[in-house]
Amino acid sequence: MYLSSLAERNERLFYKVLASDISNMMPLVYTPTVGLACQKFSLIFQNPKGLYITIRDKGHVYDVLKNWPETDIRAIVVTDGERILGLGDLGANGMGIPVGKLSLYTALAGVKPHQCLPITLDVGTNTQSILDDPLYIGLRHKRITGQEYDAFIDEFMQAVVRRFGRNCLIQFEDFGNSNAFRLLDKYRDNYCTFNDDIQGTASVAVAGILASLRLTETTLMENKILFFGAGEAALGIANLCKIAMIRLGLTDKEALDRIWLVDSRGLIVKNRPSGGLSEHKLHFAHQHEPVDTLLDAVKTVKPTMLIGAAAVGGAFTPEILQLMAELNERPVIFALSNPTSKAECTAEQAYQNTDGRVIFSSGSPFAPVTYKGKTFYPGQGNNSYIFPGVGLAVIAAGIKTIPEEIFLMAAQELSLMSQEEDLAKGSLYPPLEKITECSIGIAVAIVKYAYDEGLATVFPKPENICEFIKSQMYNVNYSPAVPEVYSWCNKL
Ligand code: NAP
Ligand code: MN
Repeated sequence: MYLSSLAERNERLFYKVLASDISNMMPLVYTPTVGLACQKFSLIFQNPKGLYITIRDKGHVYDVLKNWPETDIRAIVVTDGERILGLGDLGANGMGIPVGKLSLYTALAGVKPHQCLPITLDVGTNTQSILDDPLYIGLRHKRITGQEYDAFIDEFMQAVVRRFGRNCLIQFEDFGNSNAFRLLDKYRDNYCTFNDDIQGTASVAVAGILASLRLTETTLMENKILFFGAGEAALGIANLCKIAMIRLGLTDKEALDRIWLVDSRGLIVKNRPSGGLSEHKLHFAHQHEPVDTLLDAVKTVKPTMLIGAAAVGGAFTPEILQLMAELNERPVIFALSNPTSKAECTAEQAYQNTDGRVIFSSGSPFAPVTYKGKTFYPGQGNNSYIFPGVGLAVIAAGIKTIPEEIFLMAAQELSLMSQEEDLAKGSLYPPLEKITECSIGIAVAIVKYAYDEGLATVFPKPENICEFIKSQMYNVNYSPAVPEVYSWCNKL
């Protein structure tokens, strides 16, 4: 609340504060505190920091967009509040997420604040306690779905293009599972859009996986990956892992053999009696006997990597962690679910139950852990290593559409940025303090690729891409009160 009122009073100072102490500020504007802020959003509401468009505005979405005072909008983060972190359906209270994410666009990648627009599409909420809250700021009815919802989203996408142009980036954030995949498939080829929960997560997790190979001294194809959860995050990561393996020369089938998933009904296998296999899950379904529990799945699959993204707190029990340590000299275990209460295990549990041999990372931050005299600094598989750099690149080069390749490239770049000393300390990622450098490095790689592939629309092509990007970035320092002097003045 303090930071948010600082942003109202002195925008530049707010971003300076964020950028100058990232490891302490990030947990406030991002997971885990942003989760609490969303849960209490109606109570703490003071200023609308973004734009609300309700399904009652259907037919007038363009007019509502026109109410936003800034005209040069380059990046929108939009949510419909259906799956806020791992906290479920928070309706219009989800606004904290687009606001927080866009403040990171500026603090971590220098995207100019006036070019960012947080949007919440309010289509109702199915959470009764929120509907009953007398302070609730959103529409008081159940979620509107089906054709009416789809038409509303369509109108929104078209209105954005009409108002802000074809190159305005639209980042989807925290939509419910069934809409997230569907809308991504529907819009990705014709709009400048991506879904951070699917693609951003995939990129940061694959970066962690690639970095872990330097510690396990294996290649990606020598590994077998088991996912706990088969939602946006897990399927996104699984899909990008598959693409990475295919790039390394495996066939489709060989890649799929190395990737297994568990959802709420158990191991994802073909002809499962309990069913529940969407098209995206079916793609990864194996010919195998049904297996009900995660523990049994670990026993059966014998993975080298276990990646949790099911938002079930504590699901990686000591028994499962110990089993992973029995199966592997250096088990790779990611507890990606957010916020902290939903993490599959804590960093401490991970080190204690694996004799300190685990290669661990998490979605929410954990303090360093000392085990048997050695201190580990687990890294955070935080999407903010990726999406600000992607956004910066997209805006700088006017990229038209965002193919999957861009997220693989971002993952590869990021994995190379973790130094030997980071890995030795137990962290697969560079320290958070270096995240702006990461954003720039990722943006440079993507912009180069965009010019090569004909995806860029800003011409002429810059000679020095790094300088070109840096020259567009927001400066968090106050401009000097005294104008610059030049040589003629000196001669006087
Ligand atoms: P989602 O699309 O709703 O998927 C959740 C998945 O978990 C579904 O596949 C669901 O199974 C499965 N699941 C639920 N309960 C389960 C249980 N008891 N046993 C096994 N599987 C169970 O959500 P999401 O977008 O993937 O996000 C999941 C979590 O990942 C959230 O906590 C989110 O904050 C976190 N996340 C972290 C990062 C990061 O750290 N960088 C990024 C994105 C998301 P069914 O399919 O059977 O329903
Ligand atoms: Mn998200």
